[in-house]
Amino acid sequence: MDGTMMDFPLTLTPMLERAGKLFPDVEIVTRLPDKSLHRHTFAEFHQRTRRLAAALEGAGLKRGERVATIMWNGYAHLEAYFAVPCSGGVLHTLNFRLHENDIAFIANHAEDRFLIVDDVLLPIFERIKDKVKFERVFVVPLSGAPIPEGLENYEDFLATGRADYAFPELKENEASGMCYTSGTTGRPKGVAYSHRAMVLHTFCVGLADTVGLTQRDVLMPVVPMFHANAWGLAHAAMMMGSKLAFPGPHMDAENILGLCESEQVTLAAGVPTIWIGILQALEADSGRWKLHPDLRSVVGGSALPEGMIRGFDRHGITTIHAWGMTEMTPIGTISRLKRGMEALSEDERYQARAKQGLAVPFVEMRVINDEGEAPWDGESMGELQVRGPWIASSYYNSEEGSDKWSADGWFGTGDVVTIDKEGYVKITDRTKDLIKSGGEWISSVDLENALMGHAGVREAAVIAVPHEKWTERPLAVVVAAEGAAPSAAELKEYLSQSFAKWWLPDNYEFVDEIPRTSTGKFLKTALREKFATRDWGA
Ligand code: AMP
Repeated sequence: MDGTMMDFPLTLTPMLERAGKLFPDVEIVTRLPDKSLHRHTFAEFHQRTRRLAAALEGAGLKRGERVATIMWNGYAHLEAYFAVPCSGGVLHTLNFRLHENDIAFIANHAEDRFLIVDDVLLPIFERIKDKVKFERVFVVPLSGAPIPEGLENYEDFLATGRADYAFPELKENEASGMCYTSGTTGRPKGVAYSHRAMVLHTFCVGLADTVGLTQRDVLMPVVPMFHANAWGLAHAAMMMGSKLAFPGPHMDAENILGLCESEQVTLAAGVPTIWIGILQALEADSGRWKLHPDLRSVVGGSALPEGMIRGFDRHGITTIHAWGMTEMTPIGTISRLKRGMEALSEDERYQARAKQGLAVPFVEMRVINDEGEAPWDGESMGELQVRGPWIASSYYNSEEGSDKWSADGWFGTGDVVTIDKEGYVKITDRTKDLIKSGGEWISSVDLENALMGHAGVREAAVIAVPHEKWTERPLAVVVAAEGAAPSAAELKEYLSQSFAKWWLPDNYEFVDEIPRTSTGKFLKTALREKFATRDWGA
């Protein structure tokens, strides 16, 4: 027998409508490029979002068509976050830190029709404009810089939309957004989120035992809004009706702590690299900022070191470790102590909090190694596989990468983990040949291939080594060609011709040979064991 409930689609529109109706006075604060604060209310946001949706429809945007953004975290990005999907379009947030060729590839692969870009990010648009095919480009006037010919002012465009526009009825499995991940080998791959997945993920983010966002919170998403739906936090703020404080382009400790103080932020979220700087600033002068006594922060994207959890505790700020992936909308685990674990020793409690944590509701997990499914004993390692309602079942329009899904429908994360008997996941390694530096991916394979194109290099393997600020940095292990003796400076200069500056290995280790696996591949685990413990400095 079926239940007798209404068949009510899970889409983002009711979240937006409710927030506008019930929380009209809640503020959205954005730090602008000149560091002043832009403020408006949910009522204004709601009206502007409606206008933007109407304007997009007036411009001919049809169901399922993509609108790209190149934007910092701020009020206009939030408008796009809801206007695009609620009008039936698909929001495609472009990661503007990528190399221009990758940004262009991604925009073309997704067939983005329109672009919304912050005026301060126009230099990035300039670098890609000849490689992409946006029909219209809307520029958000944040700094007052003149808008180049051929591009349109976002505010003028928004004004063309009717304020009484009615959002269309959507089906819950229609796509609401897209993100591309470069956390894979080969070309970046697209993930298309459905309204349903976003709504369910938002409920999950709100749970008291996950992120635990409430209407009384003031949320500061430092995690870029182009990265995996800003971890679902902007959506959660809309569902709960929480005040938002956006850092805009100013992500340094001084400005972030200043915003925490002026807006009395209670929940912040970002990658460890950001929090290192903040901890250092607090250690230098802890009394300087009058922070909210309940300030807590969700840290993820890379491993949160135990020392950082302890450090923030000293300043009364609780850090909550989370793990996820672009393919997972992204939240997969959160590390909070279970009832009874208060009785553990202090060291054991910190060790548990530094693990990636417990699977959130509806995310199922298993660990697979050569022997099959590994037991949850805290020791047996294997690849973490997941499934659930907000986990991708394929990449968008790409056969490449389809081997990540097992025949029985699980997604292989590429993270090597143990799970202990309490269910806490701990990442011990990665199967993917990638380095995560400051929350962004660097391809070791691309660097190796380039290095091996240098006349003085016979073989090169690039591995991740731990780094205090950036979490990981690339280290190049090089075997020189017969009779050659290339210097580190020479190799770095050579690589700088093809890669963004932050991709370049800081260190080069010259060896006689690189250990190999039985199948002849570089044995990177051996290299990591040999080099990862060394102090590589800043
Ligand atoms: P992305 O899709 O760019 O968000 O990257 C997802 C990947 O980042 C994961 O598969 C992990 O390799 C890594 N990652 C994310 N969160 C964490 C974390 N808390 N600890 C360690 N690695 C993480």
